[in-house]
Amino acid sequence: MKTAIQQWRSITQAGFFILFIVAPPLDIFRYDLTQGHFFLLGHNWTLQLDSLPGDDSNSALNVLLLGLLPVITVAVSFLYIAWRWGRIYCGWLCPHYSVIEILNKLMIRACGKPSIWEKKKLPERQSDQTLLKADSRYWLPTFITVFSFGFIWAVCLLTYLLPPFEIYSNLINAELTRNQGLFITVATLLFCIEFLFARHLFCRYGCAVGLFQSLAWMANKKAMVISFDTQRATSCKICNNACDNVCPMRLQPRTIKRKMFTCTECGECISACTQVQQFNNDSSLLHWVQGEEAARISEPPMSSSGVRSVKITQAPAINNGMVNKDAGGR
Ligand code: SF4
Ligand code: SF4
Repeated sequence: MKTAIQQWRSITQAGFFILFIVAPPLDIFRYDLTQGHFFLLGHNWTLQLDSLPGDDSNSALNVLLLGLLPVITVAVSFLYIAWRWGRIYCGWLCPHYSVIEILNKLMIRACGKPSIWEKKKLPERQSDQTLLKADSRYWLPTFITVFSFGFIWAVCLLTYLLPPFEIYSNLINAELTRNQGLFITVATLLFCIEFLFARHLFCRYGCAVGLFQSLAWMANKKAMVISFDTQRATSCKICNNACDNVCPMRLQPRTIKRKMFTCTECGECISACTQVQQFNNDSSLLHWVQGEEAARISEPPMSSSGVRSVKITQAPAINNGMVNKDAGGR
């Protein structure tokens, strides 16, 4: 069962995914190649240069007020949010990250691994103590989901560039022009390849939106960050590294901030630890912290293994009958 954090995150992700699809048909945001200008919140967003008398200063003012100012305002606000709260846009809103998480879960069901590049299977025991056994029959729904998202993304992308009702009408009536059909086919194929083989790589290294959020976040030592309670590190002995196992970005949440460059603040690691430690009065060993506390743990003394300050006991631990060979022993 999902924790409250994850239920809220599912709501924000689903809401933003719907917004991502309906933004072009409702003219909330799109660029129309046929008309050569943007639409924003139901209005034409142009620099209005045609309606001006032939005066260069008026043109420059319009470029500044209607072009640069809105773009800079949005960029600065976005970077400020990232500076304070990290890649929260990625973890709580981004429609690509939603696809990553859905496909991770399906692949774990199909082959026991969240991506085909992962070397080892994840433990069958989940943080809520249920068992999840890999079943190859899940490959079919996995491929169908990959194709569906690839197709939705391709069509959606086209509606950000061409009149949305024309695209949807042509699609429903099987009357797409040659170029429209070609665009949707090629884009679907590329998205399918990316979703199947490189979705984590894209988020880590290929996405400019993610990269700039990470850079802004790293520049602020007091920014919100996942903190591991090293004083209670021995509590990890009852666990099979559930926080590592659930991380959609394949990070190790107990490590230092420098190694968490691509953390999306999704809180999956906190939720997993809350479930593992559900009978412990002190609850999760992982928390969000910010301010001075975040600054303190941003660069703590580090062990050679990269784990924050405290070395965790290496003894194998028993977790409901399962031996955790590597409990806390990174
Ligand atoms: S470290 Fe935790 S918050 Fe960051 S991406 Fe991984 S699971 Fe999400
Ligand atoms: S912090 Fe320790 S107890 Fe909590 S999920 Fe991670 S490994 Fe398990």
